[in-house]
Amino acid sequence: MPPYTSAELRQRWRPEVMRVAPHTPVRLSDYATDYTGDFAKKEAAEILSMGIERLALYQDRLYAQNRYALLIIFQALDAAGKDGTIKHVMSGINPQGCQVFSFKVPSAEELDHDYLWRYAKSLPERGRIGIFNRSYYEEVLVVRVHPELLEHQQLPPECRTGDIWSQRFAEINHFEQYLSQNGIVILKFFLHVSKAVQKKRFLERIDDPAKNWKFSLGDVQERAHWDDYQTAYEGVLSHTSTPWAPWHIIPADHKWFTRLAVAAFIYEKLESLQLHYPTLSSDQQQILGEARATLLKEPEA
Ligand code: AMP
Ligand code: MG
Repeated sequence: MPPYTSAELRQRWRPEVMRVAPHTPVRLSDYATDYTGDFAKKEAAEILSMGIERLALYQDRLYAQNRYALLIIFQALDAAGKDGTIKHVMSGINPQGCQVFSFKVPSAEELDHDYLWRYAKSLPERGRIGIFNRSYYEEVLVVRVHPELLEHQQLPPECRTGDIWSQRFAEINHFEQYLSQNGIVILKFFLHVSKAVQKKRFLERIDDPAKNWKFSLGDVQERAHWDDYQTAYEGVLSHTSTPWAPWHIIPADHKWFTRLAVAAFIYEKLESLQLHYPTLSSDQQQILGEARATLLKEPEA
């Protein structure tokens, strides 16, 4: 395997192209969906598997240290590759230290609570990586594109007077700041796919019997709202990328690059936390020494 260094890789995949600076207006047409940095597909698998090994090492320390939690949020239109990215990027991770939650249409019980309730209940514990496959961002995306969904939320009229979307952006920013101030580190990924590639992937789901189960007529109906979703995503990306919970716009036309970029951002974040195994106090070291002596005194079986 070539001796890839982090600095060398960083120069080649240019993370700054994908990072959304805090409170900066985003136009999605400025972001290429087919960007692949300075990488070729044939070397991607090798680099990814190296990255996955290193991720597993960091996860072990995160778990042992039991101080931080890492919350990773995935948002995207259908067929952008959320499920596959989660599957590949987390493939080397100890399942005990990782939880994945996929959020669907809210239940009647969930609708009877404030909109952040079901997500707050699913946050990762310290030492763990929590993955949200869709998230509270749906509350300013699908709910914005289909205003009738807001009607199901039973909000009293006085809560509906201002601009509800600006209000929710502010609430989400505060919520994430609160989480970050409590040791929950947040990374957010928007997988940015083109309309043409979405169509190609839908057709594959129809034509390939092994993929039929992934096809949903609802997805094709949502595709008719493509422009509304792009606008809603631009609102989210423009108003909720913060120093404590940055958005990353990940090109999603080439799955191999999506996976590489997501793994690299997670790796970079874990590296920045300077995770280490807990060191023992002298009292704890003495206890270990005594336990060792007791074990060694046992007669041989
Ligand atoms: P999938 O992730 O493809 O299995 O689909 C889940 C579906 O649930 C998508 O159509 C989402 O738009 C929908 N969904 C997720 N969260 C919400 C929400 N808060 N309100 C309404 N629909 C949602
Ligand atoms: Mg779907």
